[in-house]
Amino acid sequence: MRIAVLRERRSGERRVAISPEMVKKYRALNVEVAVEQGAGLGASIPDSEFEAAGARIAGSAAEALEGATVLLKVQRPIAGGDDEAQAGGDEMALLHSGLTLLGVLNPMQHRDQVQAYAQAGVNAFAMEFMPRITRAQSMDVLSSQSNLAGYKAVLDASAEFGRAFPMMMTAAGTVAPAKVFVMGAGVAGLQAIATARRLGAIVSATDVRPATKEQVESLGAKFVMVEDEESAAAETAAGYAKEMSEAYRQKQAALVAEHIRKMDIVITTALIPGRPAPRLVSQEMVESMKPGSVLVDLAVESGGNVALSRPGEVVEHNGVRIVGHRNVPSRVAVDASQLYARNLYNFLSPHIDKESGAIRLDPADETVSGTQLTRDGAVVHPSLADAPA
Ligand code: NAD
Repeated sequence: MRIAVLRERRSGERRVAISPEMVKKYRALNVEVAVEQGAGLGASIPDSEFEAAGARIAGSAAEALEGATVLLKVQRPIAGGDDEAQAGGDEMALLHSGLTLLGVLNPMQHRDQVQAYAQAGVNAFAMEFMPRITRAQSMDVLSSQSNLAGYKAVLDASAEFGRAFPMMMTAAGTVAPAKVFVMGAGVAGLQAIATARRLGAIVSATDVRPATKEQVESLGAKFVMVEDEESAAAETAAGYAKEMSEAYRQKQAALVAEHIRKMDIVITTALIPGRPAPRLVSQEMVESMKPGSVLVDLAVESGGNVALSRPGEVVEHNGVRIVGHRNVPSRVAVDASQLYARNLYNFLSPHIDKESGAIRLDPADETVSGTQLTRDGAVVHPSLADAPA
């Protein structure tokens, strides 16, 4: 069996789906690995390191895919209609029938591409659909990448902030600590809290899931939340937040409005799977903040938690900066790639026969059925099976 890894061609994507460490692990399972030339450069991994670990370096994407059974990607392959295809990279055209594709495929937003995988006979797996069960924690790309995004969001905020984070007592006077407010205390939010605390800020946080209160407080931050009957049931069985009612949103907005005007830094991370991100910070709230304050909207690509945030831009409004970097995990590409590569290995390796190196992804396994979009020419994922072509 052979695994192919391509250079990620989407703009701003610096990550790669395999690390030299994982090449060694696949090789130990009797699996060959072909890595496209330059695939690791964005994550500071030269071809020579992949080669030393036992991979073959392929001169092109087509060459890497020759004879491959599995293709590891970070982002969904570029299709003919995508903007990036004009830069000469229609990756869909390279995929052969019988190929197993793993990546963050964003199927809900790109249903037509799911049909295209089926038509091409590609067995596609969306890694972001990994069930949130204990056994699958080590395969969870959303967690590994969100964790780094939460960390980087705080550093991005500090880079835009004209003041220091910690309290400093100097001969020339005292510098007050920064006040940081984190909205959404999931994986990214909890790491943002921990990072801001490590930098010496005074941190508060909010979420709609009451279970987060204890987690926030255990990190030394203050919890700010509207607690009522609705919030008591705000968590789905899968551990995600539900979309809240208009009445709850109004109560939450009043509480947040009062709190936010005293903040120096606001980091928003709130997402609802399959839905646009909830709008948590209105223009009025932005305008209530002091000049020099900074907001970082980690949900900017899912519609945004903050009014005025724009994907890929740092917007200045009345002296307040609103940071909307795209693809924040790629801004920590070295660590993000290492963890992502390990997530994929942890998912695949139990299905590889060590003697022959052959792979058989058992549909009876929850991690397989939860992530598999297409099989043998058909769309099989329950959330997509009825989708029109
Ligand atoms: P996420 O990225 O989907 O959302 C981020 C946070 O935003 C969540 O905490 C959510 O509750 C919050 N949010 C949503 N709407 C909001 C609103 N209107 N106001 C304020 N906050 C709002 O979440 P996530 O980081 O992926 O984590 C979701 C849950 O899954 C957590 O409980 C996490 O511990 C759990 N988890 C479990 C596993 C596993 O067992 N394998 C792996 C990862 C995460």
